[in-house]
Amino acid sequence: MPMASCDECDWQCRADGESTVELGRAMIDHYVETGHSPIERREPASQAKSS
Ligand SMILES: [Zn+2]
Repeated sequence: MPMASCDECDWQCRADGESTVELGRAMIDHYVETGHSPIERREPASQAKSS
């Protein structure tokens, strides 16, 4: 499940299924409103290993 979050504030958005279009639109809306650049994340942060 694709989702996006912002490192500059607590904003995050989750897309159900494959609706990445809505996710991208939400990311653009956040950028327009705040000037932040949200990052899209496709994988859960469960594998946080540093090799
Ligand atoms: Zn933000």
